[in-house]
Amino acid sequence: PPVELPIHEAVLGRAAEYGERPALIDGTDGTTLTYAQLDRFHRRVAAGLAALGVRKGDVLALHSPNTIAFPTAFYAATRAGATVTTVHPLATAEEFAGQLRDAGARWIVTVSPLLDTARRAAELAGGVREILVCDRAPGHRSLLDLLACQDPEPDVTLDPVTDVAVLPYSSGTTGLPKGVMLTHRQIATNLAQLEPSVRVEPGERILAVLPFFHIYGLTALMNAPLRSGATVVVLPRFDLGSFLAAIENHRITGLYVAPPIVLALAKHPAVADHDLSSLRYILSAAAPLDATLAAACAHRLGLPPVGQAYGMTELSPGTHVVPLDAMEHAPPGTVGKLIAGTEMRVVPLEGPARDLGVDETGEILIRGPQVMKGYLGRPDATAAILDADGWLHTGDVGRVDADGWLFVVDRVKELIKYKGYQVAPAELEALLLTHPGIADAAVVGTLDDRGDEIPHAHVVRAATGLSEGEIMTYVAERVAPYKRVRAVTFVDTVPRAATGKILRRVLRDRA
Ligand code: ATP
Ligand code: MG
Repeated sequence: PPVELPIHEAVLGRAAEYGERPALIDGTDGTTLTYAQLDRFHRRVAAGLAALGVRKGDVLALHSPNTIAFPTAFYAATRAGATVTTVHPLATAEEFAGQLRDAGARWIVTVSPLLDTARRAAELAGGVREILVCDRAPGHRSLLDLLACQDPEPDVTLDPVTDVAVLPYSSGTTGLPKGVMLTHRQIATNLAQLEPSVRVEPGERILAVLPFFHIYGLTALMNAPLRSGATVVVLPRFDLGSFLAAIENHRITGLYVAPPIVLALAKHPAVADHDLSSLRYILSAAAPLDATLAAACAHRLGLPPVGQAYGMTELSPGTHVVPLDAMEHAPPGTVGKLIAGTEMRVVPLEGPARDLGVDETGEILIRGPQVMKGYLGRPDATAAILDADGWLHTGDVGRVDADGWLFVVDRVKELIKYKGYQVAPAELEALLLTHPGIADAAVVGTLDDRGDEIPHAHVVRAATGLSEGEIMTYVAERVAPYKRVRAVTFVDTVPRAATGKILRRVLRDRA
């Protein structure tokens, strides 16, 4: 059943009880915040925000890399009645201003190293009443000052069904990012829906390496573990050395990652220098992960199995996951089984909608209590993805096997139409990565001399000397003729979003 609680209640309802257990540990300097502190701090800061004038429905922009203060700022804001719009810490002032304007934000909470960008963004956007910082910066109020607030807790009554808790912006992989309105009930319900499959145990230590500002990090690395009394070890960004050291030093039990991290774990020599035996599972989501790569990672140096989850910002965010106890025997490549209280259909990509059968490939539609309220201020975009019967058209292509396991092929928009056939770039990328001379790869559809769309590979070489011809031959020997790579460009890096998604539009624009 839907969980009708404000997000801070759903997550921190038992925080006082967890008391002196560590809730958050700074993976860089070891600073620890206990559950009792998190509980007290977020309530005091909520009172402080209310005293400043934060009112129910105000939009507060949280602009910060992962820190141990992030959750305090987040839950304090929702407890004060605000809607939190999370901002990419690497956003330019212009991008940030666009989000502030679109969201109608009145408050900014940032960190001192990002203050210049935040100030500039506020100037460009207008309408921001105050910029606060989590740490200390001259001329700005700090959340640390608000801790001293003596006022009673803010007296706001939230309606979990209609009030928007979070306004994340979708990743902008396929177009401009859109503000996704997620209510308290949608977020709280999805947490409860996922819990039976991926329950975090109280003594576990989870490594927060994916960004909290994205819905995946916000759910899997912040809300879920804090709700369970686990410990979150926080890293501000991904770099392989500190990532591996943190797993070893903090005896991390569970990893939530995106495919590029699985790639690093499977291929990078540095992995062998660390004791990663505390890991019980690795879960990957946010972009396609090939079964061969997942297996290569799992079998390396005794690493645990790699399972997947599937979701999108518009789904609060999860609908499918490989349950932790099924990781060993789930079929390779699956993104998991449908979670409770959610319906799914797979329908043909073209022609009239009808339900496809077992193993038939089509577009994935989802209906359930976690489907977003809508895109902020974009009724047309909302109507284009969310139909009158409540079905969300995911834009993803997939199929379900006889046992109910979902396999995601790729996005509808990314499929390359070669002479009437459909080619999934994700499949070719996975194949390219099996070549020992290829460090990274992305495939997009580009137009050849005759104006026909062709699969075009962008390849980062691991070894020099590998030629375009050798790459095309390698692929041609392994796939049906219509799937062959017909153009190759060598690049230094593959452009990716913060969550590891390949930015194919960037490559297409370059071509
Ligand atoms: P935008 O909607 O702005 O173009 P985006 O779709 O990348 O950006 P997100 O909501 O962060 O924004 O990502 C959701 C998408 O990520 C899904 O629609 C799907 O294409 C992809 N995805 C998520 N999990 C998986 C997975 N396990 N396997 C394959 N693709 C996945
Ligand atoms: Mg999307």
